[in-house]
Amino acid sequence: MINLVLFGPPGAGKGTQSEKLIKKYGFVHISTGDLFRWHTKNDTALGKRVKEIMNSGALVPDEITIAMLKEELDKNPQAKGFLFDGFPRTVPQAEALDKFMKDNGSAIHFVVALDVTEEELRVRIAKRKQTENRADDEEEKLNKRVNEYFTKTIHVLPYYEKQKRLNTVHGIGEIEEIFGNICKVIDK
Ligand code: AMP
Repeated sequence: MINLVLFGPPGAGKGTQSEKLIKKYGFVHISTGDLFRWHTKNDTALGKRVKEIMNSGALVPDEITIAMLKEELDKNPQAKGFLFDGFPRTVPQAEALDKFMKDNGSAIHFVVALDVTEEELRVRIAKRKQTENRADDEEEKLNKRVNEYFTKTIHVLPYYEKQKRLNTVHGIGEIEEIFGNICKVIDK
């Protein structure tokens, strides 16, 4: 059983790379962003609680996010391995994940961080705005999400670095090349 965390700012290509990794390794994909979107779309009690927060581009409180993740893990006792995408985003989330894995006699084996600088992301966002004709509030939300990453989520990296579990992969370039570099980390 291999468990992997795919880490990186919004717009770094986590979704694209996750799809390719699932196909190749058969991971159960857990994307907390997708789960929250499912809840808001289906107007569940959880969806109602997080809708406003998500719309603002802010992070959902740890307590809610961790409880949802635990539920998802419990639904997949037969999983050969998990790919966590968009989780953890805070140190308490990373600690909770380690505990859940340990309780199941497992661990997070690899953390792959897609490295894209803040400047590069801002250029991507500006380009997208031009080509996709996005509404201003969309742009504002995207900027808020990037800010959340560089002020809060980035602090998760030293947590994994201290434990020698962090692998950084350059996130700019051809999709296939980036994918190949992630596979090298897993297959080594
Ligand atoms: P994503 O698609 O992963 O960028 O997530 C979309 C939104 O869902 C984020 O902007 C947050 O509001 C919320 N979200 C997703 N994952 C988390 C997480 N691990 N912790 C807190 N909020 C999250």
